[in-house]
Amino acid sequence: MTELLAPTPHDIDRAASLLRAGQLVAFPTETVYGLGGDATSDLAVARIFDAKGRPRFNPLIVHLPSLAAAETYAVFNPAARALAAAFWPGPLTLVLPLKEPSRLSPLVTAGLDTVAIRIPAHPVAQALLAAFGGPLAAPSANPSGRVSPTRAFHVTDGLAGRIAAVIDGGPCAVGVESTIVALDPAPAILRPGGLPVEALEAALGKPVLVGGNAARPTSPGQLASHYAPSASLRLNAETARQGEVLVGFGAVKGDLTLSATGDPVEAAAALFHTLREADLRAGPHGQIAFAPVPETGLGRAINDRLRRAAAPRGV
Ligand code: AMP
Ligand code: MG
Repeated sequence: MTELLAPTPHDIDRAASLLRAGQLVAFPTETVYGLGGDATSDLAVARIFDAKGRPRFNPLIVHLPSLAAAETYAVFNPAARALAAAFWPGPLTLVLPLKEPSRLSPLVTAGLDTVAIRIPAHPVAQALLAAFGGPLAAPSANPSGRVSPTRAFHVTDGLAGRIAAVIDGGPCAVGVESTIVALDPAPAILRPGGLPVEALEAALGKPVLVGGNAARPTSPGQLASHYAPSASLRLNAETARQGEVLVGFGAVKGDLTLSATGDPVEAAAALFHTLREADLRAGPHGQIAFAPVPETGLGRAINDRLRRAAAPRGV
């Protein structure tokens, strides 16, 4: 059952211990309610995608308490620093180069070498981040495809029984998602939101591109990040052909496995690490075969990611 928590020190400690145990807690921010999970835990992040029923592993926003904390996870150039100084804490998300090696789960960044970071202003979000003491991955706390929640009861309407707890912090003041800005090569808004473009342009002293941008990871080519295997992939394989590294699932054993018990949440948590390990084992111009993963629950997102990884490169 989903616990309904109050924004008191006692209940915030309870929420932080649930998060430390890899459970999911929805919490208020000034934009909308976020569905928080430990951003360093593969399993916690896989549970976020599972609870929301997301059909794709799109990257999630990492929530941190301060610019100092953000600088341990991402590389800031002068433009990023200017925007952080002007608008953090607040409804601005910056997409920045990931600082490697990273403690963040590769599921949070969808295997990209950039990371989306926000410093929320809401006192309950800040108190939770302080009590938890680490980065929280947090998309909006609604089932995929539904409207973002701005009240605690909106969260329970959609996710009751699917998450450990929700902290009721009353209505969200901004009521729409954060504005997402990428800075490489030029400032561009990847998603309009609570911070207006005019405010960004005033802080940067130059125009900001709105809409379609190469930084947005949509096409298979753009997803060919440092986690995309160099080996070629064959999907729905029951057995290995000669020279192939077989990645199993459930009854199909393989040289490696996404989940020996056929658990899609465990498989999602293992996906990026296993892709990398299979690629290493296969060697240059090698071949990887993947056992079939059923199109149910997180299986859909796993298959989506595998189809992209198997798609021809350079598109
Ligand atoms: P949500 O967490 O549901 O509010 O949505 C996060 C949004 O941020 C999605 O539209 C992502 O595509 C975008 N995003 C997150 N990380 C990145 C990244 N590294 N590069 C580009 N876009 C990102
Ligand atoms: Mg959302």
